[in-house]
Amino acid sequence: MPGASQDISSCASNTNPSFKHCLGLGICQLTAVHFLPLIEAKREGKTLTTAQIKEIIKSCTAGQIPDYQMAAFLMAIYFRGLNTEETRALTLAMRDSGDVLGFPCEQLRPLVDKHSTGGVGDKVSLPLAPLLACLGFRVPMISGRGLGITGGTLDKLDSIPGFKTTLAKERIVEIVQEVGCVICGQTEKMVPADRILYSLRDVTGTVPSIPLIVASILSKKLAEGLDALVLDVKFGAAAFMQTLEKARELARAMVELGNNCGVNTRALLTNMDVPVGRAAGNWLEVKEAMACLEGRGSIVEGEAPTRSATDDLRELVLISAAHLLVQSGKTNSLDTARQQAQACLDSGAARNKWEEMLMAQGADPEALHRKLALDHTAPVVMEVKAAQSGFVSRCDARLIGEVVRDLGGGRLTKESVINHDVGVDCIAKPGERVSQSTILARIHAADANQARAAEIRLMAAFEFSQEPPVAIRLVEEMIICDSDQ
Ligand code: URA
Repeated sequence: MPGASQDISSCASNTNPSFKHCLGLGICQLTAVHFLPLIEAKREGKTLTTAQIKEIIKSCTAGQIPDYQMAAFLMAIYFRGLNTEETRALTLAMRDSGDVLGFPCEQLRPLVDKHSTGGVGDKVSLPLAPLLACLGFRVPMISGRGLGITGGTLDKLDSIPGFKTTLAKERIVEIVQEVGCVICGQTEKMVPADRILYSLRDVTGTVPSIPLIVASILSKKLAEGLDALVLDVKFGAAAFMQTLEKARELARAMVELGNNCGVNTRALLTNMDVPVGRAAGNWLEVKEAMACLEGRGSIVEGEAPTRSATDDLRELVLISAAHLLVQSGKTNSLDTARQQAQACLDSGAARNKWEEMLMAQGADPEALHRKLALDHTAPVVMEVKAAQSGFVSRCDARLIGEVVRDLGGGRLTKESVINHDVGVDCIAKPGERVSQSTILARIHAADANQARAAEIRLMAAFEFSQEPPVAIRLVEEMIICDSDQ
């Protein structure tokens, strides 16, 4: 990571006595005056001490640092970076800015989770949490909301009648202990520093900074008190990190720091040029996740996991579970672990566990089953059909994500209100043979005008070839810590 060599606590040029007091001992709260030299130091590429970083986060969380100064500090980090020690200090200070989950019963471990950097159609968390609970893990899955083209797990779950994603810390712990898994939002008191910093980063162009992303993601995961974590770091057209190189850099930084903080952490680098599964849009994704739990998918047994041949949703669920089985020492080999996860999923146990989790989180089973029986819940459904025959050679996740967002299924700003019923399903995937008038996708819209506008844009998301396209690998790489190699 880009960083600086000079530690600012030994920086003789600063003569402000209270500043020196802050820097040396880390016992006073920063004020705007005291914070200025730290901003300047980072602007000059100097290294901050752990005590200084702790103080900054403490004062920022207490509302003592004006937004304009914090924004300048974030921009300095954006350009100058943080070294490994500084990133660790920032992550731990952010984790400790609020409540962390505590699990009284030590037998109820290992505690595990999966985090995805987000993509289009990524509903892996929904079937994965109950599957992991059935495999003997405890899963406190604290998830987020979507922004832009990236869907959020909580938005998907909000489409389930009665389901509550806002839970008190005590209730989260209770459900994890009793059911084995919970999927909910961060409480108001968990990692408040991330909320403050993220909203500033969002409006100051400082989101794409690797140390800031690492600290933001890992502070929240470390607050769950995990034993093991698998990260799904996406790259490609619809990913936060568009290139494999950038995704790898982020994954390596998170794997290194996660392990350094005592959580066995691995990362999978997965392709996000194509949507995960065949549905994008909140309720449509819940339906697809439930189909996965019921074994209703299009997996071709024995084939290498490529986009065209297998059910990529199921594959990501099984691979994530398999890694966690190996990481936690429950199983030695990845192949055996995958078979174990597959047998568990196919037994129906995870489907029952999902139901148990829904009940614990307030879902209304009758309303849910009535909703599931409907083909669609949006007022208008329109089919998009192929105009030629051949093989699908491109199915652009970014364009599909933009269409879903603009149908009302995603947010343009944090304040946008989501329509849970809209989206796109029955998406044809690369490698699939189509003929004229094969359905490429169905649009679920609030009205006919929106459906027509979406249809024109969706047509551009698909390309065709006469020969089957080269299959895209679903998992391009896996990043594990040195001691696991
Ligand atoms: N997701 C997060 O939680 N934080 C970031 O900074 C980026 C993605």
